[in-house]
Amino acid sequence: MHVVRLKKGKEKAVKQLHPWVFSGAVESIKGKPENGEIITVTDNQGEFLAYGFFNDQSRVAVRLLEWDQQVEINEQWWRMRIRKAVNARKELMADENTNTYRLIFSEADFLPGLIVDRFADYLSLQILTSGMERNKEIILDELQQLLNPAGIFDRSDASARSHEGLEASSGGVLSGIAPPEFVTVKENGVLYDVNISSGQKSGFYCDQRENRRIVAEHARGKKVLDCFSYSGGFSLNALKQNASEVTSVDSSAPALETLARNIEINHFQQAKHTFIQSDVNKQLRAFRESGDKFDLIILDPPKYAPSRSALNKASRAYKDLNRQAMLLLEEGGLLATFSCSGAIDILTFKQIIAWAALDAGKEVQFIYQFSQPEDHPIRSSFPEGEYLKGLLCRVS
Ligand code: SAH
Repeated sequence: MHVVRLKKGKEKAVKQLHPWVFSGAVESIKGKPENGEIITVTDNQGEFLAYGFFNDQSRVAVRLLEWDQQVEINEQWWRMRIRKAVNARKELMADENTNTYRLIFSEADFLPGLIVDRFADYLSLQILTSGMERNKEIILDELQQLLNPAGIFDRSDASARSHEGLEASSGGVLSGIAPPEFVTVKENGVLYDVNISSGQKSGFYCDQRENRRIVAEHARGKKVLDCFSYSGGFSLNALKQNASEVTSVDSSAPALETLARNIEINHFQQAKHTFIQSDVNKQLRAFRESGDKFDLIILDPPKYAPSRSALNKASRAYKDLNRQAMLLLEEGGLLATFSCSGAIDILTFKQIIAWAALDAGKEVQFIYQFSQPEDHPIRSSFPEGEYLKGLLCRVS
């Protein structure tokens, strides 16, 4: 096996079970490993530290897999890891009201670069690292044996693959049959039509499952504004909990079309719901001009800070967005505000909200903190895996 020797002092993170070795930490490489090949990582003295995937194209030169020198990473090892991840979702699988969730979440499940989501009878697979690509056949076979899905299809994100020097995957069906244009899934008893086969990258955001349920508990009898609604995760739950009115804003026409379908398949009252296809920032200003006010506002924007370098700009964008929303709340109204930027932690996010409140001339009480659900675990040795956070704020 080829050996990657680390620079002096760079063994610390590896010993703490962090799964990444950055290229800058590498002192020397013995041999010429291919991308995706399993190599041994040693400290500067040549002492064994771990086994991992090598990749010379990526900023992460080695993705670590196993810290026990006696364990061989073979077909059985891969099958064991997949089984463990799937078994950890047993309780979710037993829930009759939910049949969409994440089965395998990359590093968080000790499988760097593999993401598997369930959509009712279908599985979607993302392979984002060269090491994972080499084991595709075993992965497919194990998933088929464990879950017997009607079909497994490829939804690997091309830009993530390109960071590893992988070409865009061909997409399409990997095993079984192709899903229909819309697959109907269930989450906490709410139905969603999900377009999983088409080019649209994101089929459904299952990481907000618990948060949708919790926010909706505060929606009864309320006038609700759901910003960045996508296919209606928060809107539908609010309708289910008998909100008096729900307005959904998103810039994407296909997202709103799917939301319309979703209201129909759930038999929710169409008259209570309004769609607005618009930029949220513009729409919030328009509401101020028209004097519209709401009891509960949800802000679930896309990732504003893709990396640490974007932190300042992103913080200002989050602040402005939240300030605008606060100005539209009735006295004592609720703001459920989220960030899925890994670079912004919960403390920073609280500071941003505090800053927005000051600027808006409001007083905010944090009454709940949102996080990721159990199928998006956060490994104690991998804080980078924590990306989704949110705050429920009472604004007066
Ligand atoms: N809340 C949703 C997920 C939101 S994903 C759910 O529960 O499923 C983010 C959404 O923001 C996408 O649907 C995207 O179309 C929309 N979006 C991105 N930028 C926007 C903007 N400036 N104005 C309005 N919508 C925007």
